[in-house]
Amino acid sequence: MQADPQIAIYPGSFDPLTLGHDDIVRRALKLADGVLIAVAERATHAKQPMFPIDERVRMIEEVYADEPAIRVVPFSGLLVNFAREQGARLIVRGLRAVSDFEYEFQMALMNRSLWPEIEIIFMAPATSYTFLSSSLVREVASLGGDVSEFVPPTVLGCLVDRFGPDVAGL
Ligand code: ADP
Repeated sequence: MQADPQIAIYPGSFDPLTLGHDDIVRRALKLADGVLIAVAERATHAKQPMFPIDERVRMIEEVYADEPAIRVVPFSGLLVNFAREQGARLIVRGLRAVSDFEYEFQMALMNRSLWPEIEIIFMAPATSYTFLSSSLVREVASLGGDVSEFVPPTVLGCLVDRFGPDVAGL
């Protein structure tokens, strides 16, 4: 009998997706048969995300257009309910520093008390991405700084459309 494919859910705001996120997606793909990037409609960082949900989803779909094992889906509401609907029991989160740990640990335990069958794994990115966050990218780009080293080309294109060519170092 063949086991069901193991799908890892990678949830977040992805406002926008950075190369740090991409690093985690690729590591997760080594552990699971597929990765479902679950894009939270409401950003945790602010009332209003920089990119609306449709645009965040579209950007990420474009980044992974050639990767059949990676899917992108918007979600709202409780993550464990979404995971259950999707038939996924594995949640992946990235940990950059100790500062991420407390919140992530609380969330993990809360999610497990909401649905005991869920497992949450934390993955560390490559050292060069440990300082990288979407909020830093938003801040630097909005001030016209070059963020080309930190985001995939599709995301860079959207940031150029919004803030001008300086963000691509042009
Ligand atoms: P949230 O709003 O849920 O924090 P984010 O889009 O900011 O969503 O992040 C989604 C997940 O990716 C979180 O687990 C976060 O810790 C992780 N993450 C974000 N940036 C990086 C990075 N540079 N390296 C590793 N993990 C990261």
